[in-house]
Amino acid sequence: MTNSSYDVAIIGAGMVGATLASLLSRSGFSVALIEAIEPQPFDSRAEVGLRVSAISPGSSAVLDQAGAWKSIIAQRVRPYRRMQIEDGVELDPLLFDAPVFNMERLGTIVENALIQWSAWQVVSSGGMVDIYSPDYLDSLEFCGEQNQVLLNSGKKISARLVVGADGAASRVRKTMGIRQDHYAYNQQALVAVVGKQKPNPGVAWQRFLKEGPLAFLPLADGRSSIVWTTSSAEAGRLLVQDAATFTSELDAASSGWLGRVESLGPRATFPLSMRLSECYASQRTVLMGDAAHVVHPLAGQGVNLGFADAAALVESLIATRLAGADIGSASTLHAYDRWRRSESEAMAFGMHGLRSLFGIESLSPLRRIGLKLVKRSWAVKDVFLQRAAGVGGNAPKLANGATLRDLLGA
Ligand SMILES: Cc1cc2nc3c(=O)[nH]c(=O)nc-3n(C[C@H](O)[C@H](O)[C@H](O)COP(=O)(O)OP(=O)(O)OC[C@H]3O[C@@H](n4cnc5c(N)ncnc54)[C@H](O)[C@@H]3O)c2cc1C
Repeated sequence: MTNSSYDVAIIGAGMVGATLASLLSRSGFSVALIEAIEPQPFDSRAEVGLRVSAISPGSSAVLDQAGAWKSIIAQRVRPYRRMQIEDGVELDPLLFDAPVFNMERLGTIVENALIQWSAWQVVSSGGMVDIYSPDYLDSLEFCGEQNQVLLNSGKKISARLVVGADGAASRVRKTMGIRQDHYAYNQQALVAVVGKQKPNPGVAWQRFLKEGPLAFLPLADGRSSIVWTTSSAEAGRLLVQDAATFTSELDAASSGWLGRVESLGPRATFPLSMRLSECYASQRTVLMGDAAHVVHPLAGQGVNLGFADAAALVESLIATRLAGADIGSASTLHAYDRWRRSESEAMAFGMHGLRSLFGIESLSPLRRIGLKLVKRSWAVKDVFLQRAAGVGGNAPKLANGATLRDLLGA
């Protein structure tokens, strides 16, 4: 049984929107979740998917509060305790080891479909969220105390706050009339699942090549998910190359790390860009995840920023409600906008900087000095890791280990 008036209507149940729906409903808000394509059950006996994400410890804490993390780790994941970064010129790699920084793990590699399905299952089985799927946002009217959401099915719902978690091509963002800065890298990421002679020992390995980074991310069965970032022309060539030639080029690019490639799955490419919205909130509507920002995947931070957006919004809305104020008030929206925009802009420009540092011609003195500084300085590595782990100073409380009960003062 559904009603048609809610505290929050979320457009898009990707990894970010589905997680937000669970966090909000567990905090006592009434929630409508609208998703165009109903997620398919995840089958851990099927072949590993091409889309995987490096999930930070901060994000796993958020997913835990959403009720999804236990089901995720019970299925098919691989934690990694070492990050190894090479530039193909310097002999000694840049290493980050979890125990050195008192961390149990640096992150966990999880298939996107598993995250989305686990969060979806929580909201669809609990009966606490009204789900409209398959259905999609047709139009949005901004009016007074409640926004009006018109769905393609003809259904009309109203909400005190609307959330656009509808991905990079966000219709919500376009309806709000929010402009984006868009930087196309003229690069694509080629992804595939690869088995080498030796199993991946739980290391996220990355080598910066002339055209962009090549990453091997560890999978549960010892194979690796590769993300090979290169120029669009080169990615097109690698995508259609016969398997034997592709494999020998991959062997050369990874210089025998873990031996030769022994198995290769299907390949796919994704164009890369940086997109930053000029504003994340107005007119009782907020943006989050890829609807708000898209960053270069070289440090695997895109969806981690989205989970932090979700945790930050929940924190703000609980505090607003406890203070007896309106959850769609301009001051709540303004605070969310400032907090999340500064975080994602810092991350986006950090990625830009890293890309430039490693992308400079291989023997550049500037790059050598930059790399030496990072290698030698424990403090610089510590700051880098805190950011990558999604914890520390500016991270939402849920990412830093607080529970929803803590936020609710229960
Ligand atoms: C090669 C590659 C590797 C990456 N690796 C990492 C990584 O290691 N770590 C990391 O943190 N990030 C990574 N990312 C980024 C990450 O994949 C994205 O940030 C993430 O998928 C965004 O999730 P989202 O939920 O915000 O949006 P989406 O996944 O785009 O979800 C949006 C949802 O909204 C629905 N929708 C859209 N329009 C409507 C509508 N009008 N009505 C209803 N529903 C609608 C869609 O069907 C979809 O389900 C990577 C990206 C790439 C390209």
